[in-house]
Amino acid sequence: MSDATAFPQHIIARKRDGRELTRGEIAAFVRGATEGSWADYQLAALLMAIFLRGMTAAERVALTEAMMRSGTVADLSHVPGVKVDKHSTGGVGDKVSLPLAAMVAACGVPVPMISGRGLGHTGGTLDKLESIPGFRVGLSLADYAAQVGRVGCSLIGQTKDLAPADKKLYALRDVTATVECLPLICASIMSKKMAEGIDALVLDVKVGRGAFMKTLPEARALAEAMCEIGNAMGRPTRALITRMEQPLGRAVGNAVEVAESIACLRGEPGVEDLMEVTYALGAEMLLLGKVAADAAEARAKLERSIVSGAALEKFREIVAAQGGDPRVCDDPLGVLPRARFTVEARAARAGFVAEVDAMAVALGALRLGAGRVKAEDSVDHAVGFTRLVKVGERVAAGDLLGVVHASREEQLDEARAWLEDAVAIDDAAPEVEPLIVERVG
Ligand code: URA
Repeated sequence: MSDATAFPQHIIARKRDGRELTRGEIAAFVRGATEGSWADYQLAALLMAIFLRGMTAAERVALTEAMMRSGTVADLSHVPGVKVDKHSTGGVGDKVSLPLAAMVAACGVPVPMISGRGLGHTGGTLDKLESIPGFRVGLSLADYAAQVGRVGCSLIGQTKDLAPADKKLYALRDVTATVECLPLICASIMSKKMAEGIDALVLDVKVGRGAFMKTLPEARALAEAMCEIGNAMGRPTRALITRMEQPLGRAVGNAVEVAESIACLRGEPGVEDLMEVTYALGAEMLLLGKVAADAAEARAKLERSIVSGAALEKFREIVAAQGGDPRVCDDPLGVLPRARFTVEARAARAGFVAEVDAMAVALGALRLGAGRVKAEDSVDHAVGFTRLVKVGERVAAGDLLGVVHASREEQLDEARAWLEDAVAIDDAAPEVEPLIVERVG
């Protein structure tokens, strides 16, 4: 019997017993998930066996390839240049994709970006973009490919033909306690990214309290495994491990994060941490995109895209191409939805901001309606937090800690209390740890 025609129970038994699966066996499993020829209990049993036994590097590559090929692989061969995308494992206030895509595209590297919706905490990139009136994230793969060629960037949502095996397997993992499994996470993320039609990839692996990976060894293992898969598949992949203890930037929500992204593109002050991560990831993308010889040249090009206004113009072009109101670039507050109610959180005492608990802020935003509890929930684009203080800043008693934006008046008092509780104030100035922890790949 060949690998590919082996019975599911034989493949499950081999992984249960700690053996390395062949490419054919892995392909059979992924086909079983996509075509429905394996029962859910057989898929779930193999997922659990993988969870318990792990996968070798070769198995991880084979799983990623099979999942990528379970649907359409976008063809961007008509677009000249090295197409480079960025993926983030997700963090609170992480709106980096918005300024980054425009800056990198303005520097001449095509950016095909297919993003997910957020589940839990705040919305994902798509939810943020959809807060721009008219913005369509549901383009077909053909329209997406055409826009990457025409504009140099397209920001769209997952289509059903892209890595459909992941949809099936992720839904099973979600209900069988097999989400937190390195090979399955790697294959899930990388199969979707590789199906976008990219030539190279930069990963932002977040580490810390507000991240999926809480410790550096975990984040490093994930970054290394994903880089290994991308490189083995002929798509050079680099990763930055970046700290996620406090929210990135000063805004958390959807429309408020778009407004902050536009502030970045306009070169406004106050968003230094967000720009630090954006520049670092952008430099990696320009290097992979072969438009800069070294990190210094890449950084200079990215800075010029801001100072010259080219990145803001590129963002305007992307918004207009996808049906959004381009005036958002000139008058974000006038164009974006705004919450009916706001309240300011204030410091109870003087001192230094020692901590802004990213998870607590995220949960607050979720309760205000900025994120989803279930996949089918809708998000309230207008709500969230702005003007958040940053760790290390000095405050006097009564100074602003942040502003709550709510759609329901009765939430104001409790939301202000969540924010005040999320911020710890100390007498001594805290040590501010570097945001970029390390580079992998
Ligand atoms: N994100 C994904 O897309 N897949 C996972 O398995 C985990 C995070």
